[in-house]
Amino acid sequence: MTEQHNRPVLEIEGLRLAFPVYGGEISALNDVSLRVNAGEIVGVVGESGSGKSVTAMMAMRLLPDDSFIIKSGALRLLGTDVVNASDKQMRTLRGARVAMIFQEPMNALNPTRKIGRQMCEVIRLHQKISQKEAEKKAQNLLEEMQIGDAAQVMQRYPFELSGGMRQRVLIAMAFSCEPELIIADEPTTALDVTVQRQVLRLLRRKARSSGTAVLFITHDMAVVSQLCDRVYVMYAGNVIESGATEEVIAHPAHPYSIGLMQAAPENGEPRSELKAIAGTVPNLAKLPTGCAFRGRCTHGDAQCQQSPALSPLTVESLYIHSQQQVACWHPQREAAEMTQEPLR
Ligand code: ATP
Ligand code: MG
Repeated sequence: MTEQHNRPVLEIEGLRLAFPVYGGEISALNDVSLRVNAGEIVGVVGESGSGKSVTAMMAMRLLPDDSFIIKSGALRLLGTDVVNASDKQMRTLRGARVAMIFQEPMNALNPTRKIGRQMCEVIRLHQKISQKEAEKKAQNLLEEMQIGDAAQVMQRYPFELSGGMRQRVLIAMAFSCEPELIIADEPTTALDVTVQRQVLRLLRRKARSSGTAVLFITHDMAVVSQLCDRVYVMYAGNVIESGATEEVIAHPAHPYSIGLMQAAPENGEPRSELKAIAGTVPNLAKLPTGCAFRGRCTHGDAQCQQSPALSPLTVESLYIHSQQQVACWHPQREAAEMTQEPLR
């Protein structure tokens, strides 16, 4: 790895965040530490309610200021202390140096404006170039996203495009200001598996060619395996496992990660019998003490009443430079069966 690659663009350390609600609070993030280095594609995976979107929204400080309390921890985005930054500092970061792609492209695109006009507006907001140059740039970006009739597509309204096409437009827009980091929250979840794979391939290629780092949020381990260099597995607001994608996929150590892997479709096709993880996520308004997964875990014992910290996996690993970390008193050594082809 080069020095450039070790430069963090996003660093979250021990973040605890709660939403005050009537009669108590919801502990949405209980101990989140993660890092995205320049040029890296990093996945965050976990079931619904595990805190993925809250993490992404907080990284951009898009949660309303009076809606949450930071209990402890730190968050730096391109060196800026996000928790204490001024609104002006955050506005400068958003859009120009960090871009976000959301799940539902219809909400992110203005339905009453043609694609080309919207793209040019975004481009010219952050770059001092002429309308003509912005149009050229928008067209090039759409072509890079393999939109063949780019000039024509620019003349269309969002509703005139398919879901996959709209998502490619949004990806092109996210790259248009040449950001250092793109945060993508489930951008392909609504697409069918074939279109999803295409869109992921384009995203990966463009990120690699432009050196842009990506934080990619998904509930699907199969997507992580196709796209990401490293992965963080979240459960009930905690990061419970992290490491290089290949090592976490080949040897998931946390019983929850093993369950997630078994629930992942194989090679884009759903497994003949899709296993769901038994039980439900704990109530974040009344978290039990100790490991949050213990109510659903078959390996639990008295020790699990204490919270396990994320720490390096001590069992000998096949990987000499293993970076795998796990928050579990009883890490497993199961070899996973998933055989996803990574996208190139
Ligand atoms: P999904 O896969 O369904 O998108 P997620 O992992 O993104 O799930 P989050 O949206 O991060 O989950 O939510 C984490 C927890 O925080 C959930 O229990 C959610 O209900 C709660 N939460 C999120 N925003 C708020 C809020 N503004 N007020 C109260 N609770 C909230
Ligand atoms: Mg979410």
